[in-house]
Amino acid sequence: MTGKVTLVGAGPGGCELLTLAGAAAIEKADAVVFDRLVNEDILGLIPETAERVNVGKENNHHPVPQDQINEILVRLAQEGKNVVRLKGGDCYLFGRGGEECEYLLENGVPFQVVPGVTSALAAPAFAGIPVTHRDFCSSVHIITAHARAGKPLQIDFDSLVKAGGTLVFLMGLTALEQVMDGLLSAHIAPDMPAAVIENGTRGNQRKVVASVSDLAGKVRAAGLKSPALIIVGKVCTLSDKLDWFTPLPLHGKTVVVTRPRERAGTLAARLRELGANVIEAPCIETVERENVQPLADALAQHHDWAVFTSPAGVHAAVHALHKLGRDLRALYGMQLAAIGRGTADALAGYGLTADLIPMQYDGEHLADALTAAMPQGGAALLLRAAAGGHILPEKLKAAGMHVTDVPLYDTEYRCTKADELRAMLEAGEIDVVTFTSISTVEGFVQAVGAADYTGFTALCIGEQTAQAARKHNMNVKIAENATIDAMIACLLEES
Ligand code: SAH
Repeated sequence: MTGKVTLVGAGPGGCELLTLAGAAAIEKADAVVFDRLVNEDILGLIPETAERVNVGKENNHHPVPQDQINEILVRLAQEGKNVVRLKGGDCYLFGRGGEECEYLLENGVPFQVVPGVTSALAAPAFAGIPVTHRDFCSSVHIITAHARAGKPLQIDFDSLVKAGGTLVFLMGLTALEQVMDGLLSAHIAPDMPAAVIENGTRGNQRKVVASVSDLAGKVRAAGLKSPALIIVGKVCTLSDKLDWFTPLPLHGKTVVVTRPRERAGTLAARLRELGANVIEAPCIETVERENVQPLADALAQHHDWAVFTSPAGVHAAVHALHKLGRDLRALYGMQLAAIGRGTADALAGYGLTADLIPMQYDGEHLADALTAAMPQGGAALLLRAAAGGHILPEKLKAAGMHVTDVPLYDTEYRCTKADELRAMLEAGEIDVVTFTSISTVEGFVQAVGAADYTGFTALCIGEQTAQAARKHNMNVKIAENATIDAMIACLLEES
């Protein structure tokens, strides 16, 4: 049976400006065919089982020609797959979406279209420029300024200038001088405000605002690069007054989030809200153990406390119990301890309330709190990572407690963005790297390899993580508590 193709506009940047329908389509896809401009975080929504086809196009250089893209779409759909064709911005605005749909129709492949937020409107909005405004203009024109190699631009500048609306040129950075000359020769006022916006809506957005006569010189001096668009019109005069984006407290800061993907979302989202340029680069992955016998053996003994030191440990315990044909009732009668709020939240997800959370979220304070709760000694069941820190069991044993340490999962060092991180580090583009555990520090170092780690702030949760970072000569800052709020507070202090 033939599958179908859904054209999805990915929006101008990260997941925040992807539509809900777009995200739902990607999450259900069997195959995703995507372009160069599509952001890594959006690609991160593609199911692991789905086929990924990168047909990314470079300027004047088409690794996969359009007719081949068309054929790929038809072939995948004819294999019965639910195909998503992912395009930057909106899929019908200079994205050749129309051509692809015509071809699908000719080949009897059903298709749907999920429009996207176009950079033509979103980048100006993030740069303080409303594309229309009653005081200045009553129309907006979106124009491609892409010229075939060596050929002049095919733009009717006279009509555009006469219409008097806001002009937005896409794909026009290389032809910036030609576009400005074209407008001037069509008698636009030389002092007409104009701007170029690079990486619009993203944390690394830059803009240059000038007039038609001096924009090109200023943009070249500032070294703006693609993706960028040109906007011309009186509305550009509002760009300082209505700029809400660059005043955000973390604007201009590039922050790397290294925690595993399942846990990165909230921290990354909060940082983005504050204007940071967030690079989500998980450096560790948790792999649950197949062998659950140690848990079965432990459950045969009496324990007073079940102790959880990470959300991953909570989930791994539930999965391990399932493998044994049991469930959380196996912990009946035990008190529950959680190292911090995140771990307690994971327990709450299963309807359980943590009886104990230490004031400070680390192994040392957890051990102190447990010993205080059991002054006469007792038995603790640690349900945690195989390579868990040694401080917790050692302190408990020293306090006369019986400890059973059950390894439920391994932490593996894996990072899909190693090359990107290394290049950014070498270019001095990283301001802050957040580390939430010793293993994230080790995972980061393994991914990046031998490098100079002194150029950024290592924002660490807890003293033990900080020690691991110091060992690699990083400049360390410690968040008071293992909470997102504490990390954010630390970053805001710094900026
Ligand atoms: N369909 C896309 C446009 C594709 S043409 C959309 O609706 O946005 C590609 C051009 O879009 C680039 O050359 C650049 O001019 C513009 N562009 C895409 N993303 C951009 C961004 N984040 N900031 C500025 N311009 C962008």
